[in-house]
Amino acid sequence: AVVVVGSVNLDLVVQVPRLPVPGETVMGGGVEYRDGGKGANQAAAAARLGADVTFIGACGDDGFAANVRYGLLSAGIDTTGLADVLGAPTGVALVVVQPDGENTVTVAPGANHALSPADLDAFTDAIGAADALLLQLEVPLTTNVAAARMARSAGVPVVLNAAPLPEDVADLRPLLDVVDVLVVNESEAEQLAATGPSAATPMEQASRLRDHGARIAVVTLGRDGAVAAYDGGDCVQPGFGVDAVDGTGAGDTFCAALGVSLGEGMDVPAAVRRACAAGAVATTKLGARAAAPTPGEVDRLLAR
Ligand code: ADP
Repeated sequence: AVVVVGSVNLDLVVQVPRLPVPGETVMGGGVEYRDGGKGANQAAAAARLGADVTFIGACGDDGFAANVRYGLLSAGIDTTGLADVLGAPTGVALVVVQPDGENTVTVAPGANHALSPADLDAFTDAIGAADALLLQLEVPLTTNVAAARMARSAGVPVVLNAAPLPEDVADLRPLLDVVDVLVVNESEAEQLAATGPSAATPMEQASRLRDHGARIAVVTLGRDGAVAAYDGGDCVQPGFGVDAVDGTGAGDTFCAALGVSLGEGMDVPAAVRRACAAGAVATTKLGARAAAPTPGEVDRLLAR
């Protein structure tokens, strides 16, 4: 079983002929409601891969709360940990997309920022019994630290996708101290490892990231796959060649697959390979939640 503590959003997506400039109004097509939030997306990807998933997060007391709850339930996720925050709006992402795919995204975190350590109290046992705890950075740091400590004290591996990074990455120190597996993309790695652009190879960055405390540091490289630095050595996983149509959801799918695989006891190179295959499949479909692959789809790519 996997527990995810994190964000859940409703993404409001509108296609426009071109992105508006400041002060301008542009007429778009009909609004599309998509399930989103990095936490909920990772939970859904883990569930699609066959894991038993409990999601701990927060929605507001508005009409959108029912949408996000239904989105989680229909993905087969246990939502007893989804708190209703009175007086807060459900998290929303406003996404505007022009025909070439260029977009702008504005996130109103709402209830996600109200998820507190106290909301975890009823789930100490669930976290302690999990095979892995998955975290991201769209809920308060204090809540992530509290969840990670609960997992740690029960010997449950903590997988942190350090995205999106805060303004001051030094704020992350208390969390990085209690994380087992750190997953970042290239630009996050540059910021976190404080190497500056292209001052180090991805593998050098991964090893440097381990200095922050994680046992396993993974840097994802888009179409080029991923690298990992860990106790057993280094692992370089080239990307799987696919016809990518939409990169949304690839990172979240990668993290979910990595957490599920490590939780199943897979070794690091095998887990990174499976996560890369899962991320690659996710790029072959549109959208974030809808793109998450089944175990069969991942296995087919792994067997190629
Ligand atoms: P993020 O979306 O968080 O920036 P990446 O772009 O690094 O993350 O993608 C995460 C993972 O998804 C990669 O490590 C890789 O395994 C897979 N992936 C992403 N884009 C592609 C692609 N074009 N072709 C094949 N695999 C991809």
